[in-house]
Amino acid sequence: MSDRPIPFAPGEHRRSFIAVEKEIARTIKTVSGYMTNHTPEEIESRIRKAYEYSRDAHDGYLRKSGEPYIVHPVGALAELLSLKPDLVTIESVLLHDVPEDTDRTISDIEEEFGHEVAHIVAGVEKVSRLKYRWEERSIGSLRKMFIAMSEDIRVIFVKLADRLHNMRTLTYHEQSEKQKRIAEETLNIYAPIADRLGIFGMKEALENECFRHLQPDKYYAIRRELDAMRSNQEIFVSRVSQKIRKLFEERGIPVRDVSYRVKSPYSIYKKMARKNLERVSDLYDIFAIRIITHTVADCYDILGVMHNRFVPLPKRFKDYIALPKENNYQSLHTTVVGIFREFEKGEIDRRQPTEIQIRTVDMHERAEIGIAAHFTYSEEGASSVSTEVQWVRELKNMLDETKDSEFFTHMKINVFDDRIFAFTPKGEIKTLPKWSTPVDFAYSIHSEVWNHTVIARVNDKVVPLDHELKNGDRVEIVTDKNKRPSIIWLSFVRTTRAKEVIKACINREKREELIEKGRFIMNAYLERHFGKGLDKDLSLLRNLDGHILSTREKEDVLVQIGNLSRKPSSVIRGLDPSHTAMIQAATKQASEAGTRRAAEALTTTGSPTTLQKIIIGGERDLPYFFAKCCRPAEGKKIVAHVGRHGIKIHEAKCPSLRRSNNDRIIPAHFENDASDGMSLEIVITLRNNLGVLRQLGDACYSMKLNITDLHTSNLGGGRMECRLTAYAETEDYYLFDRLAERLKFSIPVIEEIELIHMG
Ligand code: MN
Repeated sequence: MSDRPIPFAPGEHRRSFIAVEKEIARTIKTVSGYMTNHTPEEIESRIRKAYEYSRDAHDGYLRKSGEPYIVHPVGALAELLSLKPDLVTIESVLLHDVPEDTDRTISDIEEEFGHEVAHIVAGVEKVSRLKYRWEERSIGSLRKMFIAMSEDIRVIFVKLADRLHNMRTLTYHEQSEKQKRIAEETLNIYAPIADRLGIFGMKEALENECFRHLQPDKYYAIRRELDAMRSNQEIFVSRVSQKIRKLFEERGIPVRDVSYRVKSPYSIYKKMARKNLERVSDLYDIFAIRIITHTVADCYDILGVMHNRFVPLPKRFKDYIALPKENNYQSLHTTVVGIFREFEKGEIDRRQPTEIQIRTVDMHERAEIGIAAHFTYSEEGASSVSTEVQWVRELKNMLDETKDSEFFTHMKINVFDDRIFAFTPKGEIKTLPKWSTPVDFAYSIHSEVWNHTVIARVNDKVVPLDHELKNGDRVEIVTDKNKRPSIIWLSFVRTTRAKEVIKACINREKREELIEKGRFIMNAYLERHFGKGLDKDLSLLRNLDGHILSTREKEDVLVQIGNLSRKPSSVIRGLDPSHTAMIQAATKQASEAGTRRAAEALTTTGSPTTLQKIIIGGERDLPYFFAKCCRPAEGKKIVAHVGRHGIKIHEAKCPSLRRSNNDRIIPAHFENDASDGMSLEIVITLRNNLGVLRQLGDACYSMKLNITDLHTSNLGGGRMECRLTAYAETEDYYLFDRLAERLKFSIPVIEEIELIHMG
């Protein structure tokens, strides 16, 4: 704005100013209630100072509604308060429009309020200046938007609050293009961000406001129906609440609060559209009773009583405590019918099933404010919410690599679904791909921590290094200077960064070991698919990727396999570029030979009358014969031999293949066969303690290994031997090492683990 407007006359807009002053007083009270690292005097003086500075800076400016401008920053602050923000965030939200709309600059703010506040305000200003359009050509500005937000997570908090207050105060009958743009931007950018950060309250409020602006007719229709149901529900809830309290009091189970939540108009709208429903009352989860208690044990106790007392609806029970949602939401959900029969025919008709949500106070807080729950108030006075949110930065990096047209797909799929947050013991946030492990976490920390990781603690519990991290985990890495990275880590780490660093480190030190490991893996693969392994001269690798390899280069290939940077299957593909050509040639010959011969082959082998599907070299529908020498039956491991007269299917171990050239053999499997799987036979010697077999089972289960056979024999002296066969659904040549590592970790009484067979 160019000219400074005329300041308000004394008494002008008196009511607005009284309301704003009241709001500030209320804010100071609320903040003093939760903020423990500042005195109430300090809290009051800092909030007042920022408020007065903003009020004076905006003096004379009006909002579209005709109110003084200060109503907006104070209103935005009110939206933010549920997140229990720190003082810097509070000051920032009060000042967020000052540099853009008044003659005071960022440097003025920096001088008065310090660097942090100035930095956040500058970030918010940058974000606000970028205009969003649902068009490809403006995606560059979205990129800038994320970059500005990624500098400090508090920029996002302020921006969300700013947007929410603006959305609430947009007048809906004024349907301008600009408003539509703002609503779409909110629905497509800000609401998903709030959701991703677990700030449920804001996400829901933002969505509803957008819904109200974009589809006012539908929004108000739903609201009207909800309002009509409201008074009945309030009576119902207050009575139910009394009854529930009494029910649990009698049983000595503490209940902290019984409340209810009404499904938001936008969620109702989405669900009605999805289920093709006409009326709001057709949904039976519009309304849920929420029971808040103290401990997790109380939650399950309460659930038990509810299920005993009322009839639970099948398949409606959800345990989000044991299995939290992606954004770390935790709660027990169940739906019961016949809750308080006296309401069914009285003044209030409540025949509908009722959803019950049971959670602890902590869970409740996290459900409402998500990541902001990590504002913690330390003695030093600084809040420890990280000033950088890595996922936003990663988004930024990703944006640099992504074509604009792919942007939204990526943003939705990769960024919002496939990431988890984990925290350092100091509360710093790390973003990692889903299924990351403590080792990935260690490598996301910038320091020498990486290569000396020994033990990981997740939420104070020691876990194996291949443990799968969950959203919100607090991870602590214990290091030892003498410890080096283990090659086994490569088989479970998710992040490229971790892989690269581990590989580099291992390659430097362990060439000989890697050659042996690579040879072992290559042999296991070859024997499995082709029935024979490498010879001493590695002659199979002589001609690879179109080059003739020296002995050292052949060993380099084994090193690559050994450190998992190359898969055996890719080596096979590199061996002979004519493989595909050979399959095609065989196809042609076979089809020329006609189906007669194929049919003949089938009958001569006595195969079932239905034609079995066999996948040959990854290709479907290639004609084949069953070899007469071994006549493989379904379920057997098989290979395809490409000969002059077409493709013959042999059993993988068929002796007639031993003389064949490896280049003529290609992998094959029956279609129904889980051909990627791998089985493992091991012998474990251990002291026979109570529960040890159960621990063994748990360890296998946690690695998704299915135990197919288990024999134990007593060795005397309290020792026993355990012979175990297990099956994994994926081909993984490090399976044994990982299993051994995990078993040694979780079962200290194990003396020895020996690999008998893998393949
Ligand atoms: Mn604003």
